[in-house]
Amino acid sequence: MATVLETKTYDLLINGESVKAQSGATMDAINPATNEKIADVASAGIHDADLAVQAARKALDGKWKTMPPARRARVLFKIAALIGERIDDLARIEVLNSGKTIAGAKAEIGQVIEDFEFYGGAVTKLTGDTIPAPPNFFNYTLKEPVGVCAQIVPWNYPLLMASWKVAPALAAGCTIVLKPASPTPITAVLLGQICLEAGCPPGVVNVLPGPGATIGAHLAAHPDVDKVAFTGETSTGRTIMELAAGTIKRLTLELGGKSPNLVFEDADVDAAVAGALHAIYYNAGQSCDARSRILLHERVYEDFMRKFVAKAQALKVGDPLDPATHVGAIISKRQLEKIEGYVGIAAQEGATISCGGTRPDGALASGNFLKPTVIDKVQNSMRVAQEEIFGPVAVVTTFKDEAEALAFANDSIYGLAASVWTRDAGRAQRVASGLKSGGVAINSPISIIPGVPFGGYKQSGFGRELAMQTLDLYTETKGVVMYTGAKPIELFKV
Ligand code: NDP
Repeated sequence: MATVLETKTYDLLINGESVKAQSGATMDAINPATNEKIADVASAGIHDADLAVQAARKALDGKWKTMPPARRARVLFKIAALIGERIDDLARIEVLNSGKTIAGAKAEIGQVIEDFEFYGGAVTKLTGDTIPAPPNFFNYTLKEPVGVCAQIVPWNYPLLMASWKVAPALAAGCTIVLKPASPTPITAVLLGQICLEAGCPPGVVNVLPGPGATIGAHLAAHPDVDKVAFTGETSTGRTIMELAAGTIKRLTLELGGKSPNLVFEDADVDAAVAGALHAIYYNAGQSCDARSRILLHERVYEDFMRKFVAKAQALKVGDPLDPATHVGAIISKRQLEKIEGYVGIAAQEGATISCGGTRPDGALASGNFLKPTVIDKVQNSMRVAQEEIFGPVAVVTTFKDEAEALAFANDSIYGLAASVWTRDAGRAQRVASGLKSGGVAINSPISIIPGVPFGGYKQSGFGRELAMQTLDLYTETKGVVMYTGAKPIELFKV
């Protein structure tokens, strides 16, 4: 049966069945562009979480384990194909539930397809090693699935973040309890149904919308969960790390960021302006790797700022379903107020608001929108340069030379991503290696490409997603030593 793509109620997915929460609890899914309710979603409790973990545990040793790798690969390719067939519907639902633009949602779902294809291709290449051995020994490693994985994802890229976690876990032969963020549960439920339809046996992918503070925490501490993969705020990551410590769970944490965008005096300023614009205002700035700190060499400052502010003001803030919209809605009124709070803090700290900082009026007033904002004359020590604002707000600081640029860029508790704009190849290499961040883009507005590892240094977390290395985080490596000699080895010699 084809997956139902749009209904007004969405259930949990446990052991291959769409079920209500045992308590009957539901939560409202809200459209951030209007603050109207779009659907009822079942809200799982502790008992539902236990059932989902049980189903995932049972499925781990079932048909999934014995499925030949080439068939498992085909399941991943089928997931990609089904998502491709339904991209228009999925994108529309993602927009209605998250407030992101339709152009953005389609591009992201395009990448979701590539993620499943990437890991579909990896299934049959997941091999152990043979290890150089002394005579009469044959030593090798086996790669085995890490087990039941709790995957806790945020609201900023609901389907994309789910696919970054679900695809490698399936490739490695793990089973999954996926917990979407409460504001954006719908596409995760649909992804679970698609996985089932594509051939994942029941229980391999369970989807559990519900409150993070209760079921997310319960999963993180659950003795029958082997690994937690989490994306979200650094403080939540810290809590999850503590909860997971009880049973020494494997952990991948992709956390906050305050990523710098460095523009040197020899840069192509027009390219840097275009890149910086996308890097902060895409997804209304609600990206963990948003280049939210723009660091400008003193000599390019005037030229860059004149062009950047003009372009920021020209961006179309509006209906997320309109293909011409650049900047959609902020996820919630609370998040919008948090961002506005930072604009106020910037002014108090002595920075200058060059543009934006206010809500658009008219038809958008009922939704959660903010005009693209540029905050100038920012010292790197200010709160707006140190804390994750998570909205369409760029802060601008100038530097004198390469050493100062690197010092400012690295003066952060975070280290997720960075961009460098320069025509000097030597400098590009020096700065890329001096930056304390998990990723660096050189003269490129694009930095997320399947195959290129994504993850953080410092308090931006650990573990890498979107790459072959990710499979190491979803597998255990077993070392096997085999004696092949004809005579027994008698070490005690008695
Ligand atoms: P959270 O880190 O709280 O949420 C991310 C996910 O974790 C959600 O699925 C959430 O569930 C779940 N969760 C929350 N508390 C726990 C817990 N104790 N144990 C296990 N799971 C938990 O982010 P928020 O949604 O609250 O956003 C807060 C701020 O975090 C934002 O203002 C933004 O600055 C930042 N943020 C950063 C992201 C990033 O990628 N760097 C992504 C999202 C937010 P539930 O939704 O049910 O609470």
